[in-house]
Amino acid sequence: MSAQPRMPTESGTPDHFQYLHPVMKRNYGQWAWHERPRPGVLHHVSRTGDEVWTVRAGTQRQMDVYTIRKLCDIADKYADGYVRFTIRSNIEFMVADEAKVKPLIEALTKEGFPIGGTGNSVSMISHTQGWLHCDIPGTDASGVVKSLMDELHQEYVNEDMPNRVKITTSCCQINCGGQGDIAINVQHTKPPKINHDLVANLCERPSVVARCPVAAIRPAMVNGRPSLEVDERKCICCGACYPPCPPMQINDPEHSKIAIWVGGKNSNARSKPSLHKLVAAGIPNNPPRWPEAAAVVKKILAVYKQDAHAWERMGEWVERIGWPRFFELTGLPFTKFHVDNWRGARASLNTSAHVRF
Ligand code: SF4
Ligand code: SF4
Repeated sequence: MSAQPRMPTESGTPDHFQYLHPVMKRNYGQWAWHERPRPGVLHHVSRTGDEVWTVRAGTQRQMDVYTIRKLCDIADKYADGYVRFTIRSNIEFMVADEAKVKPLIEALTKEGFPIGGTGNSVSMISHTQGWLHCDIPGTDASGVVKSLMDELHQEYVNEDMPNRVKITTSCCQINCGGQGDIAINVQHTKPPKINHDLVANLCERPSVVARCPVAAIRPAMVNGRPSLEVDERKCICCGACYPPCPPMQINDPEHSKIAIWVGGKNSNARSKPSLHKLVAAGIPNNPPRWPEAAAVVKKILAVYKQDAHAWERMGEWVERIGWPRFFELTGLPFTKFHVDNWRGARASLNTSAHVRF
């Protein structure tokens, strides 16, 4: 029997075209204009004369199967059976008939899904996987999001902000979080604690050594077994060593904190994309409702709403008034660690990929 060639495993997202609402498929690339008749509803009109209304609702993102079925039933009964999720976990229902919009909104509202997230609102918070899906989180990003969105409900269903506000949450300090007008990130404040009995069996020591951005990890013999040691004067508590070497535990109920960053954006509308900057650190990582982190975010939002000019994104507003004024207005304590534009990072962080012993 001749050897069969090994076929590649196809992975990744399927072609989305097959899932588009027929009106959207038919008018792909043909949209002439759009408007927002009310917060949470988009109305697109095509050059062909076709129209489609999109109703956007907030979800808790990590949903049980009953909630997903409920949303699908609403789509089948009140929409045309089509849904899609935005990158921030809003769910969108598309209808080709304006008369279907009101009953759809009523059905979603009755089941507790808020309608909003469009225009100058605080849209749903994008977040990383948290305790449910990832093996290294220091907090439950989705829990922080749920607690915060419960408190920001009015800002989601109204479009009262100077510009759109994108908030993001990350449950470790190094991986999949994104830039946001406000970012809520885990912040480790102590170097990892090493369980020397496990390192030899579980960790590939050279890759752990290479992983450290400041070359703080060295191989070491401890109690006659190969292990690792950390130079704690160099360690910046980033947590990068914990994923490839779980015995280097860095998560800690007391010393893993929350930090808030401000002024990032991905879009290049009006001004260039920007990196967010640290403005509050050492906030307790306090599940299940994270009240201290929520208080800081709400304070920043209230000041931004009151002080920013129309159409200024959070970062543009801070650039205009200056960081000292930002700290004055928000009442957040300012220390030398808080604002960093990373210009010095090339010199202060070790960017080499070489293994160092
Ligand atoms: S932010 Fe870090 S801990 Fe959270 S899901 Fe991403 S990689 Fe995992
Ligand atoms: S990888 Fe990060 S946490 Fe680990 S030793 Fe290096 S600086 Fe410290």
